[in-house]
Amino acid sequence: MQTFVADHPLVAHKLTAMRDVNTETPLFRSLTDELVTLLAYEATRDIRVERVTVQTPVAAADGVTLSRPKPLVIPVLRAGIGMLDGMARLLPKADVGFVGLARDEETLVASTYATRLPADLTGRDTFVLDPMLATGGTLVTVFEMLASRGAASMTAICLLAAPEGIERVQAAFGDDFPIPVKVVTAGLDDHLNERGYIVPGLGDAGDRLFGAI
Ligand code: URA
Repeated sequence: MQTFVADHPLVAHKLTAMRDVNTETPLFRSLTDELVTLLAYEATRDIRVERVTVQTPVAAADGVTLSRPKPLVIPVLRAGIGMLDGMARLLPKADVGFVGLARDEETLVASTYATRLPADLTGRDTFVLDPMLATGGTLVTVFEMLASRGAASMTAICLLAAPEGIERVQAAFGDDFPIPVKVVTAGLDDHLNERGYIVPGLGDAGDRLFGAI
């Protein structure tokens, strides 16, 4: 597995504003949107393309177009929904699947309550949207679902990651895993606290995007 931590002043600026406890939901949402688009640029670096030739007003030009079958974007409910528009801006033609996982606040174990994915992902690049890579349990479960359906590659876009989460995903999808696996994040934080929150983190991403319900 490859981990990419974005190192860019605009990414750092937006992430810092999102961490601020005084940043309210409307701004938090629009910053998420912008940050995901920046991360998506890196996350799609190895997306499959095919060579094509187009006619410009002047001459024939060699170029590329995205390969078929189309990529699949998978926001993890609930918080991942807040990342979808930012990703769709770069990949407007991608299909969108959904998975819903909720973690038990006592055991920190995630259980799946919804799955809406194509049965066959053969040849498809897949992009998982989940803002917080904390224990890694959710991401391992989602990657397992995608790999068992035959995905050609699996990339997660996370706003923040904890070292514990990266280690867990790395242990499950090591360098000998047969397809490319990547995590792209705006920041790698210090640790998880006893409640499974990333420290210093930004709090509960779902609550900050959509309110505490
Ligand atoms: N989920 C969140 O929303 N925040 C964390 O810090 C960890 C998991």
